[in-house]
Amino acid sequence: MVSFSESQGSPAAAIRRVLVLGGGSAGLIAALTLKRLMPALEVTLVRSSEIGVIGVGEGTTAVFPAHLFGTLGISKDEFYREAQPTWKQGLRLLWGPRDEFFYDFEFQYDQQFPGTRKATGFYTAGECRNLSQASALMTHGNAFTTGPLNRPVIKGQYAFHIENHRLVACLEGTAAQSGVILEDDTLDRVEMANGEVAALHFKNSGSRTADLYVDASGFAAELIGKALNEPFKSFAGSLFCDRAMVAGWERTDEPILPYTTAETMDNGWCWQIEHEGSINRGYVYASDFVSDEDAKAEFLAKNPKITTEPRIVKFRSGRYERSWVGNVVAIGNASGFVEPLEATALAQIVYESRWLVESLHLTGGSPDEGMKASYNRIVGVAWDEIRDFLAFHYKFNTRLSTPFWTHCRNETSLGNYEDLYRLYREVGPSPTLLVHAIPNRPNVYGVEGFLAMLVGMQVPYERVHLAAPEEREAFDRHRHKLATAAKGGLSVREALDAIRKSGWQWT
Ligand SMILES: Cc1cc2nc3c(=O)[nH]c(=O)nc-3n(C[C@H](O)[C@H](O)[C@H](O)COP(=O)(O)OP(=O)(O)OC[C@H]3O[C@@H](n4cnc5c(N)ncnc54)[C@H](O)[C@@H]3O)c2cc1C
Repeated sequence: MVSFSESQGSPAAAIRRVLVLGGGSAGLIAALTLKRLMPALEVTLVRSSEIGVIGVGEGTTAVFPAHLFGTLGISKDEFYREAQPTWKQGLRLLWGPRDEFFYDFEFQYDQQFPGTRKATGFYTAGECRNLSQASALMTHGNAFTTGPLNRPVIKGQYAFHIENHRLVACLEGTAAQSGVILEDDTLDRVEMANGEVAALHFKNSGSRTADLYVDASGFAAELIGKALNEPFKSFAGSLFCDRAMVAGWERTDEPILPYTTAETMDNGWCWQIEHEGSINRGYVYASDFVSDEDAKAEFLAKNPKITTEPRIVKFRSGRYERSWVGNVVAIGNASGFVEPLEATALAQIVYESRWLVESLHLTGGSPDEGMKASYNRIVGVAWDEIRDFLAFHYKFNTRLSTPFWTHCRNETSLGNYEDLYRLYREVGPSPTLLVHAIPNRPNVYGVEGFLAMLVGMQVPYERVHLAAPEEREAFDRHRHKLATAAKGGLSVREALDAIRKSGWQWT
């Protein structure tokens, strides 16, 4: 029998030594994932303290804790002690015509309540709160429901807010304990041979070689972009913002909120991220529509408590056409970037790392060109879905009519999800039918994510359902149950106190 790799030409040599360039969250998560899931690999990570890390990226989705604790088996005690995360159950969006709506990591719209005839989205013309336990918790400002002994029930699809420097320090410690070799040096030049990387030459430690190079050098994209010259696919047809202004203040008596807030601004939007000791705010805006000075004035007027000097981060949205080229795989900001509207970057890093490990497993550590093409297709589809998911946020936000938002409503392309929107207009928020308009796999956000935006922003559809009184009663009864459990829940502060008490045990 001819094996797949033989049919593609001579079998590639097995990968034994991996060199990760970059020690931001992407490099560290990639190195940890490779080392913990493939312990026989020799994994070396070289990062530059001279250059440092981007230092932003502080909200996660539920994929992140699941990966750290479930897939990688990292100790919760250690992680909570070192990284000092707070919890978020999702996003509170000050967006569209409603006062607010929530997006969580559970199911609000891809479900039907007992005693009703249709999916939940058909009953939410007036009000869309308390549709899941997570959204009910966010509505009531609590992090978790209360379990036995008045302890928080820390399970389900929760996520984190973590200060970037604490996360990086914590991951470095875990990586070193796991056997990743950590080095500090700055790349000087890349030596190429036959279209592949032959060696990396560093300023102090000379040259290093490996069987596989992971480019986690952030926006610099030293290997995939500069050395290999892989074309960059811009997302500028859907996402018009290209700058973020970041600042914050020390927390005083503000409650620690169990969600990231995303608030519509004149020329983009503003996040609010909740750390235990501080509040971090960032204004993502489009420099074609507003100058840095005017953006700063709007940002400071909205956030009079800001004490730190706003820092501007410039970015371009898009991805490299292929992330895996020859013996280089790009992960994190080196592979692509979109603004942090849904805190998607860390999740994408986790997926890229896992898909890489799976590709190595499937090929016995000798990935052929077919495997690399499959990996690239999957990563590309995932990036494009994120682009389109964010595009829905822009296309349908009717909250403001500034030139920026008018442009977004008129010009944003929905990419591969245009058909899903068309079908939604015809059939309404029916997950059973809309699932057939999902264009590609992987589909990380499911019908759920797109419905959360369409229903949250009250995007009209034709087949409006007039609920019978008994249906409405059943619908409200179910929401009331979720709201009651949420009201009796514990705040982020109370849950943090609980896990720090002696006798606390993670289940
Ligand atoms: C404004 C903003 C807000 C964000 N918010 C979020 C969020 O809420 N949630 C989220 O998930 N993501 C967010 N992100 C994305 C976030 O930046 C990434 O998730 C994450 O930090 C990964 O970064 P990275 O490791 O790819 O790059 P970096 O942190 O930039 O790391 C690059 C590494 O490469 C090294 N390096 C670079 N060049 C060289 C060289 N020549 N020699 C040696 N080493 C080198 C650097 O020293 C560094 O260690 C945000 C991004 C921005 C810009």
